[in-house]
Amino acid sequence: MYISLIIAIIDSLMDPAAALPESEHGKRLERLIEISRTLSSSAELEPFLNTLVSATVDLIHCEAAAILELDEGKNHLHFLALPWTYRDQLIKIKVPAQTSVAGWVLQNSKPAIVPDVTNDPRFFKEIDQATGFITHSLMAVPISFNREILGVLEAVNKFEQAHYTEEDLKILEILASLAAIAIQNNHLEGKVQHSLDQKNQLERMKSDFIAIASHELRTPLGIILGNATFLRETVPPELRVQMEIIVQNSMRLKDIIDDLASMDNVQRGTASLRSNSISMQRVIKEVMDSFQQEVQEKHLSIQADTGQGDLVLEGDSAKIAIALSNLVKNAVTFTNPGGHIHIVAESIPGYVKVTVIDDGIGIPVKDLPHIFDRFYQVESHLTRKHGGMGLGLAVARTMVEIHSGRIWVESVEGQGSSFTFRPRSPMSKRAAERSWPSSRSPARTSRARSNARS
Ligand code: ADP
Repeated sequence: MYISLIIAIIDSLMDPAAALPESEHGKRLERLIEISRTLSSSAELEPFLNTLVSATVDLIHCEAAAILELDEGKNHLHFLALPWTYRDQLIKIKVPAQTSVAGWVLQNSKPAIVPDVTNDPRFFKEIDQATGFITHSLMAVPISFNREILGVLEAVNKFEQAHYTEEDLKILEILASLAAIAIQNNHLEGKVQHSLDQKNQLERMKSDFIAIASHELRTPLGIILGNATFLRETVPPELRVQMEIIVQNSMRLKDIIDDLASMDNVQRGTASLRSNSISMQRVIKEVMDSFQQEVQEKHLSIQADTGQGDLVLEGDSAKIAIALSNLVKNAVTFTNPGGHIHIVAESIPGYVKVTVIDDGIGIPVKDLPHIFDRFYQVESHLTRKHGGMGLGLAVARTMVEIHSGRIWVESVEGQGSSFTFRPRSPMSKRAAERSWPSSRSPARTSRARSNARS
């Protein structure tokens, strides 16, 4: 649009039929190009439209110019840009869309040239009455973008009562196109801002929900779980199966609430990072052990490849265990019976890189950019076969990011997924030295999945 405008500007002023002297052409061309440059550099709509109105006066050689915009109700137009002398009187005036020259231009999507307003029934007299200005003639063109009419640009009282020429009309149309781009940009900016505001509000609501749910559910669930675990040991044998179901499902709820609490702690900045030397091999082993039962029930094979030396990094083992545990949990959940899960850990300077690979159902390409968002799930929550709240990966990402690390996924739908995280030690320099395989035994070990939440 911008390039075609420049071409239109040059074409209009190179028209051999135009009767202006060469130097006048040059000046007009320069002014139009200057205005179009302002469009690309000016961020604010109002100053740009005011500049455009002044340029209209200069280029058309007329007494005044104005831009009118259609109201939301579409029955009236109001002034969007106008000479500042009449601003106070005109800014609140509503120009009827049905009975005014500007309204006619809008309705018919055509320019209007009115050499003598006294002979034109479309002329809306109230503007002159409000300002004391006397309108003799006017030329008005639609401001449109992609066939949508956004407003009208008017030039009023050509000097020395001269007639508006073909070239005047072309120039006014070019100026209207520039106004259209500016107004459209402004509308788009408004829409983008609105979407951003909505997104921020949604994020705030998610955070509030996480905070409330994690606090309000934790205590009653703790009581249910404590009592159910006690009763499981004491109820008559014929009720043990039911008690086991209650305990198992309470444990699942606890996992969800632990995820919520972990997110909440990080959101509120209350998560503490207990930094110690972590043996990645040990974390991996403990996480794998904690999934033995599910792995056996689904006839999955799970194996780890952690190289020869010890993989040590500086960090919070409980939080690293949460990240890994959530990835393994997903691999177990989304891999069909008989499938394979492979955990590979290796050391690179400053980091330990851990990858959880499965040959499960994989993730559609369209979902990959959102997979780490809070509450995002590939399947609709109404039809999904698996439990969860779409928090596991968001929590894993948070745990890795508080170690200044990165987490990412590669996946092919129907073939499997590979999640990799690279936690970086908070004390990166020392960690860089230590994260190479070392024979030193770790000072402190991580905890298993069931008690690894924080
Ligand atoms: P949830 O706890 O609900 O599973 P997550 O945040 O852990 O939520 O995962 C979000 C979604 O990503 C899941 O609902 C699932 O559709 C998809 N997903 C995660 N890991 C895998 C995987 N290994 N294989 C296939 N899909 C996965």
